[in-house]
Amino acid sequence: MNRIASFMNRMYFGKALPFNYRIYMIFFFECLVISIISATTNTLLQKGLYGVVFQWSFIVFNVIILFIPIKWRMALTRPLLLFVLFFYIPFLFFQTAGYDGTAGLFSILACFLLTIMFIGKTRVLLIIANIVLWLCICTLSYLYPNIIVPHGSRQADFFDYIVALTLALSGIAILGVYVKNTFEEEQRRIHGLLKSEEDTNKKLEELTNRDPLTGTYNRRFLSNFLEVKLQPEIQPPKDLCVMALDIDHFKQINDTWGHGFGDEALVRFTTAIQDNLRKDDILARLGGEEFIVVLNQIEFPKAKEIAERIRKAVSEITFHNGARMTVSIGLVQAEPGEGEDDVLKRADKCLYHAKNAGRNRVVSNP
Ligand code: GH3
Ligand code: MG
Ligand code: MG
Repeated sequence: MNRIASFMNRMYFGKALPFNYRIYMIFFFECLVISIISATTNTLLQKGLYGVVFQWSFIVFNVIILFIPIKWRMALTRPLLLFVLFFYIPFLFFQTAGYDGTAGLFSILACFLLTIMFIGKTRVLLIIANIVLWLCICTLSYLYPNIIVPHGSRQADFFDYIVALTLALSGIAILGVYVKNTFEEEQRRIHGLLKSEEDTNKKLEELTNRDPLTGTYNRRFLSNFLEVKLQPEIQPPKDLCVMALDIDHFKQINDTWGHGFGDEALVRFTTAIQDNLRKDDILARLGGEEFIVVLNQIEFPKAKEIAERIRKAVSEITFHNGARMTVSIGLVQAEPGEGEDDVLKRADKCLYHAKNAGRNRVVSNP
């Protein structure tokens, strides 16, 4: 059973095969089943000899097509559809009771497939040609009723009609469901692809803007951020305060407890700072144990308070080995017309004063 399923997948319905081919194969099997049932009834009802012979020949031809190499079958899909639509069904129409019969029903099924298998102008032309053909066929059979091979009895009429209607309705429903399911599957796949692309972009952005050890922003991000923020149109520069921070005697911490512990201390240090910042404030690592904080939309006294809070929070960090850490901070308020370099230089000057004055303190200007 599994081997049959895998054969069917490989040859006719597998997702790896082109959509047009797969949908055609569904139509093809439907056509085969419909043809066998209708050929059997037509034979039993002793319909027009030509029709019966033609139908059985077509069935044999289709069975052969099922076993030819897949490449040839793919190449034959459209010619076969056109043959069915423009020749096979119209021929059966004349052979099986004309518009009292049911051949017309199957042309609807085939026309639906036509809209999928062809595109652009060709599709429009074929649809129009098909409609015109049926108008001609009906007119012809109306004007010359003798060319139609009629049903033998009312019973045959009834029997033909219910079988054909059932087959045509279920056939078109199967095709519709298949198209809809494939469309939805494709939508889900595209959605998945877009989502993973979004994730990749986010990761790339993290890589370019963040410091890998502490997860804080890097110098590159800080530069871009300050460049934008220091444009007078964005916000009055006086609403922007910048802090330069440098851990005191960090070399000593490394020397005493090892570089690994130094790294851990850096992470704890940044966490302590983040805890004292608001959502729109920025913490960036310039390098080593030097950091910059940018406070947005803030009055200078409030900025001083935050700087002091940060200094205190850092001095209160406790480590499992009893080590302690302090930070020196230089704080300035951006002046009108100042660029990124100017403001950072001034903050650094304040930091220098804080170090000289004995460390573990905030020096601000003004
Ligand atoms: P000061 O109070 O004057 O700032 O003294 P300091 O020892 O902190 O100053 P210095 O700038 O001389 O030392 C900084 C040290 O930071 C040197 C280096 O070993 C260490 N360091 C720089 N980057 C890292 C890092 O990524 N991880 C660790 N563990 N240490 C780092
Ligand atoms: Mg230092
Ligand atoms: Mg330093």
